[in-house]
Amino acid sequence: MMKKRVLILYTGGTIGMVPSDQGYVPMTGLADRLVSRLQGFGLDDLPEYEVLEFGQLIDSSNLVPADWTRIGNCLRDHWHQYDGFVILHGTDTMAYTASMLSYMVQPLDKPVIVTGSQIPLAELRNDADTNLLTSLQLAARDDIHEVCICFGNRILRGNRSVKVNSMDLAAFDSPNMPWLGTVGINIDIRTDLLQPAGIPDIQVPEFDADAVLVFTLYPGVNHRVLKAMLDNSPNARALIIRSYGVGNPPDANQALMHELEQAGLRGLVVVNLTQCQSGPVVQGAYATGATLNRIGVVGGSDLTLEATFTKLHWLLARGFDAAAIRATLAQPLCGECQGS
Ligand code: ASP
Repeated sequence: MMKKRVLILYTGGTIGMVPSDQGYVPMTGLADRLVSRLQGFGLDDLPEYEVLEFGQLIDSSNLVPADWTRIGNCLRDHWHQYDGFVILHGTDTMAYTASMLSYMVQPLDKPVIVTGSQIPLAELRNDADTNLLTSLQLAARDDIHEVCICFGNRILRGNRSVKVNSMDLAAFDSPNMPWLGTVGINIDIRTDLLQPAGIPDIQVPEFDADAVLVFTLYPGVNHRVLKAMLDNSPNARALIIRSYGVGNPPDANQALMHELEQAGLRGLVVVNLTQCQSGPVVQGAYATGATLNRIGVVGGSDLTLEATFTKLHWLLARGFDAAAIRATLAQPLCGECQGS
């Protein structure tokens, strides 16, 4: 049987970093390091792979929306030459990129597996080997047609994933959805949860980094803080607020409610997410949240911050207007939320 062919895109992140006197920094030459790492092993269980290294490797905390365009273009340019893709990415913003890729490339007819590590491949004891080798095996499977994060012993839907631990090797979770699979002695996939295959329509827009804002509410928040943010963001088209519990804002703060309403009237899409680590927004379960319904704020259902932020960027960059975004934001495009 013909071996599957997988393209590894190396964008940066801890997995390929080396120590410096300033801490870990990205390093070129991952392909050679990988070959020497694998020397002496029978490679029967692995697909054929090639490594494409980005010209400018980044610590993913430096990621900007233009990087999604770079990664998306790279996927589009190589889509038909490979059976699957592994994206090596820093963990800090991995969930944002995995979410964005799920919107850019949908539906999928092959796997896109996003991974990285907490300890670099260059270290003797690391989680890079396992994450990378498991991801290569996943990228060669016939039954995965979606963007996944493979990390630690978990296989997660990319647009449901969140980095939940800064030190643990199981750094990611999908708080509002069961894991798609587990990596133990065997790789067990919940095939009942996987997205159906389709013919991809790969759309890679340019993004305006100023388009989406995030504002976290806190006890005693002064409306002037939000006003200053909005006044200084003339290009903003969407605002995510992070409220409490099932989507409750301090509605007794009428000046704050007024700012939110004004933002909506000026054409911004205002979306309400919860600060809770899991569970959906049910805007209106309490009278406090019902205020947001009255002033045109959209409840974000069980979307993660990462999936919401990237979805807003995606819809705006594709030319959707505010009314269309309000109507569709909480409906799933590719499994990112439960829908109504
Ligand atoms: N700062 C690193 C990055 O996101 C962390 C990591 O990769 O684990 O690139």
